[in-house]
Order: sequence, then C-alpha cells, then structure tokens
Amino acid sequence: MQQLIDPFGRPIEYVRLSVTDRCDLRCNYCMPKGFRDFEEPEQWLDFTEIERVIGAFGRLGVTRIRLTGGEPLVRHNIPELASRLAALPNIEDLSLSTNATRLDKHAQALRQAGISRINVSLDSLRPERFREITQGRLEKVLSGLMAARDAGFAPIKINMVVMAGVNDDEVEDMVEFCIEHGFTLRFIETMPMGSTGASAGRQYVNLQDVRRQLARRFELIPGVMHGGGPARYVRIAGTELRIGFITPISQHFCDTCNRVRLTADGTIYLCLGQNDKLELRPLLRAGAGDHDLEQAILAAIARKPERHEFSEKPEQVVRFMSMTGG
Ligand code: SAM
Ligand code: SF4
Repeated sequence: MQQLIDPFGRPIEYVRLSVTDRCDLRCNYCMPKGFRDFEEPEQWLDFTEIERVIGAFGRLGVTRIRLTGGEPLVRHNIPELASRLAALPNIEDLSLSTNATRLDKHAQALRQAGISRINVSLDSLRPERFREITQGRLEKVLSGLMAARDAGFAPIKINMVVMAGVNDDEVEDMVEFCIEHGFTLRFIETMPMGSTGASAGRQYVNLQDVRRQLARRFELIPGVMHGGGPARYVRIAGTELRIGFITPISQHFCDTCNRVRLTADGTIYLCLGQNDKLELRPLLRAGAGDHDLEQAILAAIARKPERHEFSEKPEQVVRFMSMTGG
C-alpha cells in the first residue's frame, strides 16, 4: 500500500477530522464563554464531500481517523457519517473524541456504526467545579460515560487537562475513579491555542510533577499502550489502570508526529501548533476528480512543519482548539 511520508521522513497515517467547530460546553481553556463566531454550515463539507476526502487519504496510506470537533455529537447523524467512513478501503481504525454530554443517547448507534474507541474529556469529578470549568452538568457526562461502557467501548480513555489551582488537587481522585470503572486515564498539559488557551497557559502544570506526585502514592510501571499517539504510558501496579501523559510543552513529541487535521470546512492543518494549511473545499466544489484531490493532499503533506513552537511563540496560533479538534 502507498505511504504518505512528510519532508522529515514521518509516515502520516492518521487524520483528525473536526466535523463541527460548535460545542454545547464552554471549557474555559478551549472556547470563550459567549463565543458565537462559528463557521456557517454551508461552508462545512457535507458527508459525501468528507467521504471523498477521507477516501483519498485512505488511498494514500491513512488508516486511522478520529472524529472530533468542537463537540462532534452536536452535528446531526454522526453515526451515519461514521458508518460511511468505516466502510472506506484502508480505514482500519475509527475513533471519537467527545465531551460525552450526548453519549447516553448515541453510544449504541456509534458502536454499531463502527467506532471502536472513544476518548472523553473530564476535568473534574466535582459538580460545582465541573460547571465552573465547562458551564455544563457533570451528571450528563457521567451517564454518557456509563452508556459508552455498557455499549461495549473499550478502551474508554478519560482526558483530563490539569490546571494549577483549578483541578490539580483532583489528580489522585481521577486515578481512583478510573480504576473503579476500568477507564484509561490521560493527563494533558494546557496548550496556548487561541485567546482561551493563552490565558490557560497561566494555569500550566508540568506533568513531570504530576508523575512524581503519583509515584509517591502508587507504584508506576513504565510501559506502552497501543494508540499510535503522543501519550507516554505507565501502569499502576496491582491494577489494570494505564495512565498516559500528554506533554506537548514539557517534552514535545513532534519527531514521531503521524497526523494531520481536517476542519469542518475542509481545510487541512498540517500541525496543531502552526498555521500551515491547505483548503480542499474550493477544489471539491469546483469539481476536482479523485486524482486532483490526492495531488492536493500530497502537496499539503509536503508542507508539514517539523514541529510546533508553543514554548518559543505561544502567541502564534490564534485559532481555537475547537476548530482543529485537539
Ligand atoms: N469536544 C470534544 C472533547 O472535549 O473531547 C473533542 C474536541 S476537544 C477540542 C479535544 C481535546 O482538546 C479535549 O481533550 C480538550 O481537553 C483538549 N483541549 C482543548 N483546548 C485545549 C488547550 N488549550 N490545551 C490543552 N488541551 C486542550
Ligand atoms: Fe467543547 Fe471539547 Fe472544547 Fe470543551 S474541550 S469546549 S467540550 S470542544
């Protein structure tokens, strides 16, 4: 099979597909509270256009797709899109990142549509604090999580953005919660994306410190976990719990980057921390054939930057995380 290789010799086999930039929550490190400046749906690729683009990526060697957003489940008929993408040649792994507020309704249909793995954002287990961070209701998320477990998703990964003075005192509670429910846990460092991410930068916690804190209470066994992503994992001795540390700032992982991002309006972003992009929508709507699409994707990959510069140029990325989906 063909492989997509970027200028730094990295095989690109993973696309993060943002299906909407809208969200029913307002996590304060991601989206501003009153934020309304969303893309118009008319600009969004429809399912047939998405299918064509992902089909082209698949022919070029991409095997893994993650649906993300914004909140992917606020877009209608995501199970239908999932089953169309799962049926494409070469697409072996279809996963979803969600805030889980709507999972209680959709978990079963998503599973049947061919989504195998899900990641759920959860930054606090305290209802009041959860509301302060997200403007949403914790109980919705918890019932969504339980519905996902009942629908047979495994692993279910909990993503917790650790913030100083906000939720860093809940790290051990989250470990216990994940042991109890059989979830995998990943801690994430805040990234300076958009104005919200920039202010969250003030709450930055170096995850090396969290790891040291956990090591005082638990025996941590270094190990790997399949996922192909940037998390470095440990297992807690005597349990099945795996904990990943996603450390874009304290230990960046750009040398093994295997992914690009596609936004709802059909723009390929080559790096989460850079502005390099290529818009596919004008091509698609001008009647480009499959070969033209593949050539455009190859041209985009040829522009993939070597690494992000979150530390050197934290003000550089003005777009919000909800646009490119993390
Ligand atoms: N709405 C879904 C969710 O929350 O999982 C998917 C999209 S969300 C943008 C994807 C991930 O990005 C979440 O785990 C979220 O915590 C993370 N994220 C958003 N803004 C961030 C920031 N400034 N720094 C670090 N992680 C961020
Ligand atoms: Fe929405 Fe996810 Fe951003 Fe939170 S992190 S505001 S749930 S897109």
